[in-house]
Amino acid sequence: KLHNIVQETKGNIRVFCRCRPLSKDETSSSYKCAVDFDGAKDGEIAVVNGGTARKTFKFDRVYMPTDNQADVYADASPLVTSVLDGYNVCIFAYGQTGTGKTFTMEGTDRNRGVNYRTLEELFKIAEERKETVTYNISVSVLEVYNEQIRDLLASSPSSKKLEIKQAGEGQHVPGIVEAKVESIKEVWGVLQAGSNARAVGSNNVNEHSSRSHCMLCIMVRAKNLMNGECTRSKLWLVDLAGSERLAKTDVQGERLKEAQNINRSLSALGDVISALAAKSSHIPYRNSKLTHLLQDSLGGDSKALMFVQISPSDNDVSETLSSLNFASRVR
Ligand code: ADP
Ligand code: MG
Repeated sequence: KLHNIVQETKGNIRVFCRCRPLSKDETSSSYKCAVDFDGAKDGEIAVVNGGTARKTFKFDRVYMPTDNQADVYADASPLVTSVLDGYNVCIFAYGQTGTGKTFTMEGTDRNRGVNYRTLEELFKIAEERKETVTYNISVSVLEVYNEQIRDLLASSPSSKKLEIKQAGEGQHVPGIVEAKVESIKEVWGVLQAGSNARAVGSNNVNEHSSRSHCMLCIMVRAKNLMNGECTRSKLWLVDLAGSERLAKTDVQGERLKEAQNINRSLSALGDVISALAAKSSHIPYRNSKLTHLLQDSLGGDSKALMFVQISPSDNDVSETLSSLNFASRVR
């Protein structure tokens, strides 16, 4: 199935659309579902606005609110495992705050998301191939907030500014912690440590995480035992900052700066992906820390997947349309 998707898609990016269920609060406030899933099997989704206006979008995949974490991961899996064959891969979740970006990527203890399932599968395949290839897997967890990079696995907050450096063909951040993980048993602990570190120094965890990008980087070093060949590849798993526009009354001071930085990095991401799709000679990676970090995992022969996350509520229609328009632009 994914094979077809790869062939159909322009460039190397596919877009999967995921809509969460209506929440209890929305139901009790009498908000209704404004999303029509009739064409979901064919990758179509329609937003119904006020009964008459209706806009249809097409993506590589559309999930029903009832589709679970395993259903979603099953479609991402071929892409994820191509990192073991030497490809750089990038998966990100885009959308308004509260639409399920963190649920899709991180998940919960009982409903683990793409991040954990990815590592679980990488370890499983590494074990199956151990007679012929030795894999070394390590993870870094970063946060980009106001165009500054923070290492979420660092044991003590460093006063040194983290910068992106060019090393050979790739980008790297000198001084960043690369936690070597030997087995899946260690993974959830490392991921939780990174997630918990986001809260440090902010008085509202949810607000802070909705205004920063959380980026998990899985480095895979492979040594082929038959011919001695060594390869290195990278898989980025990114929970992006919320894409919502601010109420005009909120836009001042620190909040304004945050909003400008989020807009800048999300539009930089859109610009990079559309430049890649248009096979443009100049790809503007350097316009944001986000795109600069992802440079060697977007473009070239790397593969990318975007989850566009939406709310079903008729109260969120304008943000939903804006997210779906963004996602259509990159496809
Ligand atoms: P975001 O990271 O985009 O702000 P969250 O991942 O925090 O959004 O999701 C908001 C709420 O909706 C959370 O309580 C989450 O558990 C719930 N949720 C999101 N997606 C789903 C889903 N597909 N099924 C059930 N609950 C979901
Ligand atoms: Mg979140």
